Formats: sequence, C-alpha cells, structure tokens
Amino acid sequence: MTAQVLDGRAVAAALLDRVGREVSEFVADHGRVPVLATVLVGDDPASHTYVRMKANRCLKAGMHSHRLTLASSISTETLVHQLRELSDDPAVDGILLQHPVPAHLDERAAFEAIDPAKDVDGVTRTSFAAMAFGEDGFHSATPGGIMALLDAYDIPLAGRHAVVVGRSAILGKPAGMLLLARDATVTYCHSRTADLAARVAEADIVVAAVGRPGLIRGAWIKPGAVVVDAGYADNTGDVEHAAAAERASYLTPVPGGVGPMTIATLLAQTIRAARQHEAARQPSVQPVRGAI
Ligand code: NAP
Repeated sequence: MTAQVLDGRAVAAALLDRVGREVSEFVADHGRVPVLATVLVGDDPASHTYVRMKANRCLKAGMHSHRLTLASSISTETLVHQLRELSDDPAVDGILLQHPVPAHLDERAAFEAIDPAKDVDGVTRTSFAAMAFGEDGFHSATPGGIMALLDAYDIPLAGRHAVVVGRSAILGKPAGMLLLARDATVTYCHSRTADLAARVAEADIVVAAVGRPGLIRGAWIKPGAVVVDAGYADNTGDVEHAAAAERASYLTPVPGGVGPMTIATLLAQTIRAARQHEAARQPSVQPVRGAI
C-alpha cells in the first residue's frame, strides 16, 4: 500500500480562498478590515519565521496584522499588561501569542490575559473547556486544522481508535478532545507511556505531536491507518515517513501537511471573531456560530 497524501497546502489554500471572500464581504458590510494582533517575545528564529508567515497570510487574505515584538527580558507582568491592552482594544479582533515564550515567563498567565472572544489561536482555558465539552468556541489552531484536513478527505472518525502521541495543552490534548467530540475512541500517549509501539499499532488514526524526528516507526503503523504528523523539528516530522507510507492509507507530508492548516485555521477563526464582534455591537443580530 502507498498512502494517499493528506495535502495540507491544497486544503489550506481552499480554506484561505474562502476566508478572503468572507473578508471582502466583511469589509463591504462594516467598512473596516479585520485585525489580527500577533505578539512575539524574544529572538527565537523559528518563532520569528512562524509569526512572519502568519502576518503575511493575514495580509494576503485582506486582513490587517498588528505586530508586537517584545524583548526576551520582559517580565510576565509586562506581557500580561500588553495582552490585556490588546484584549481591551476595540480595533483588535484576534490575538495570537506565539508559543513558546521564553522559559522565565508564565505562559499560562499570559494566555489567560487574552479575551476569550479574541482567542483565535484557541489557547485560553475558556477555549479549552469549549473543546472539551464539544461546545461552540475557538479551536486550538493546530488541532482545529487537523480536524479540517481529515474532514476535507472525508475520513470517518466515529468509532475509530485514535492514538494521539503528545499531550501538550495547545496540541496533543485538544487534538484528542476534538476527536473524542467526533466519537472517536481516543488513547493519549506521552513520555511515560509504556510500549508506545504497541499503542500506535492499535490505532486506526495516529496523531503524532511530539517534536522528535522519526520517533514513530513506519513498522508500527497498522495497515490502512490514517497518519497525521504534526511534529516539526529539524525540518522533519515525528513519523518515519517512507516506511509509514508503505502501510498507511493516508499520510500528511512534512512540511506541507499540518503546518499550512494551522495558519488557515487561525485566519478562519479571526474573520469569525471579527463577525462576532460586529454582531455583539448590534444586539439585534444573532451571534455568529460555527467551528471555523
Ligand atoms: P511539547 O509541549 O514539548 O509537548 C510534547 C509532547 O510529547 C509532550 O506531551 C511529551 O510528553 C511528549 N513526548 C516527549 N517525548 C516522548 C516520547 N518519547 N514518547 C511519547 N511522547 C513523548 O510540544 P508541542 O508544543 O505540543 O509541539 C509538539 C510538536 O508539534 C513540535 O514538534 C512542534 O514544533 C510541533 N507543532 C507543529 C505545529 C504546526 O503547525 N505544524 C504547531 C504546533 C506545534 P510529556 O507530557 O510526558 O512530557
């Protein structure tokens, strides 16, 4: 078997086309451009690249990107203050704090300073709870993008065994919660999991979210399984791709799989936040609902 590619670039391009059309409608309706504020702390080159890519995509979709770059030496209090100011700023529709922040900062406190109505990257406790309860809310961008990619290929989820490797609050945990909300049977694996190979071999759907190149061996993949590789380190995913492609039915490339879907989901959620803000300013209009 040679796996079919889950082409994140193509699916993201279609989603971004839709976002672009929605932005044009929004501008015509409200006479203003939606605004995504990006906050970057420190000098990490990869984080700078990710924020630049997000800002560029934002501009291409017709939205405005308000970029705030802060020194790595700032305190948690200063970062929280900056995020609260953006939360209170009526001109800002969505806020992205690039993860990870330098180790001396309390990232959770910073995330919680983001108004949930502007949490287009889905990092606050409010968004996390909405995902856990299967309620309306902003999805964590990468898990939300993974779900949109699986849906674009009509991959059935209900009743299937999904194994998520990784349990971070921004990726592994919410990915499992979104799969559970769609009636998959979910197993989480992490650094203390005994016999990772056996757990992965049981999976109909594997979501790799670790950041260790080649951790998941191709020989572990159950024939016909769907493999989503969200890991990204040294330009490489978590899955041993050539060998996995021989066994999987579908496989995401790295790069070109999950990464583009993350950005597209962020922007889809930004235009949704902008519409919700306008609806909130006009109480007679029903709130805008929907996933992305
Ligand atoms: P993280 O916070 O470092 O979490 C990594 C997870 O992997 C942890 O839950 C950890 O377990 C688990 N883990 C570590 N070693 C393991 C092992 N040997 N076996 C099984 N599990 C193991 O990282 P993250 O922020 O979730 O990111 C994970 C990866 O996704 C990174 O490569 C990152 O670059 C990538 N990523 C990609 C995108 C995208 O758009 N494509 C977006 C976000 C992140 P413990 O909890 O036990 O420590």
